Amino acid sequence: MNNKLVLVLNCGSSSLKFAVINSNSGDEIISGLAECFNLPDARIKWKIAGKKKSANLPSHSAHSAAISYIVEEIIKTEEGLAEQFVAVGHRIVHGGEKFTESVIINDAVLEEIEECSSLAPLHNPAHVLGIKAAQSAFPTLPQIAVFDTAFHQTMPAKAFMYALPYNLYKEAHVRRYGMHGTSHLFVTHEAAKALNQAVEDTNIISAHLGNGASVAAIKNGKCVDTSMGMTPLAGLVMGTRCGDLDPSIIEYLVTRQGYSLKGVMDMLQKQSGLLGVSGISSDFRDILAENEKGNKRATLAMEMFSYRLAKYIASYAVPLGRIDAIVFTGGIGENSHLIRTQVLALLSIFGYQIDDEKNKAARLGEQGTITVDGSPIAMVIPTNEEWVIAQDSVKLASNQ
Ligand code: ADP
Repeated sequence: MNNKLVLVLNCGSSSLKFAVINSNSGDEIISGLAECFNLPDARIKWKIAGKKKSANLPSHSAHSAAISYIVEEIIKTEEGLAEQFVAVGHRIVHGGEKFTESVIINDAVLEEIEECSSLAPLHNPAHVLGIKAAQSAFPTLPQIAVFDTAFHQTMPAKAFMYALPYNLYKEAHVRRYGMHGTSHLFVTHEAAKALNQAVEDTNIISAHLGNGASVAAIKNGKCVDTSMGMTPLAGLVMGTRCGDLDPSIIEYLVTRQGYSLKGVMDMLQKQSGLLGVSGISSDFRDILAENEKGNKRATLAMEMFSYRLAKYIASYAVPLGRIDAIVFTGGIGENSHLIRTQVLALLSIFGYQIDDEKNKAARLGEQGTITVDGSPIAMVIPTNEEWVIAQDSVKLASNQ
């Protein structure tokens, strides 16, 4: 019974996603979500052995109460489970320039994660709360931080700099950091395996398309460019986020259209993207359904999504030179054959020819190449960020 289990925690400000992962197989033993923190109806739901369960948390609970519940009421009630834990792995959104790889959390690391809060004010403070709660709940287990930004730290300055006065980079840390690093890392390694190439010799473009979306150019297994910026607002069209836009629009909305700065930023984060353009939903399945019915704004939202992504992919031919594969991942990338068809059609100048049958078959967790033989390769690889976090956690915990 030596399964090396890791509790993977992804702490947000009002919710906490968790999973118990077998670090050897990647199997998810338990997965769940605690939500509505600091509200009367704080609650938790989870899945274990295919069974869905849920419970109310004490009114106005937050991270600490949720983690106690996970330990006492979920993990400890399964015989023999608690003894198999070797580490707690924390997903950390922003590691600034300090963290280029995963680390064991000590007081200095915790302080640095706290310092990065100015770069991710919605996420990092919640991560710190989660780490402190997990430290008290599991005082004997090593706590590991795995950063979304770490994989992108190999970008050269010409890719990560904004064309702003240089002292803004030196003094205020204004630069591109990129996100979804664990996902881009995971699919890079899986793509190399599928291509039968050493990861050090593999060039791919990885498109992580979920509620948040980003695309990364990976040369010789290392990130050389990515679409997200200093924050996750930049780049592709997303569920509710606008992605790239002319910065003067912000001034125009504040000085000419009566918005407050906070109002504009909320709108760019929460009411834009697929939701804003379609007026329907941020959920891609709703957009697909409305597109089927002939809703023109749903069609436009999809076209904008594909067009922006295809333009990014085409531009990454510049740093890569040779593209071994385009990889689609994330909820939309893994499941929507229509988006993949649209994107590859826009990239026909590179010779991509989609195989309709293979493209339609690649969904619901199925991995595979979706282009015809002889075409440059595009593939679908389901991501598994939790497994990366679990594996890094075990590696670091065993080196302790
Ligand atoms: P998150 O960024 O929250 O982790 P996911 O990677 O789970 O997001 O992706 C969520 C997105 O994937 C949603 O827009 C959802 O509609 C979309 N999606 C999920 N399943 C399908 C499907 N079968 N077809 C098309 N889109 C899907």
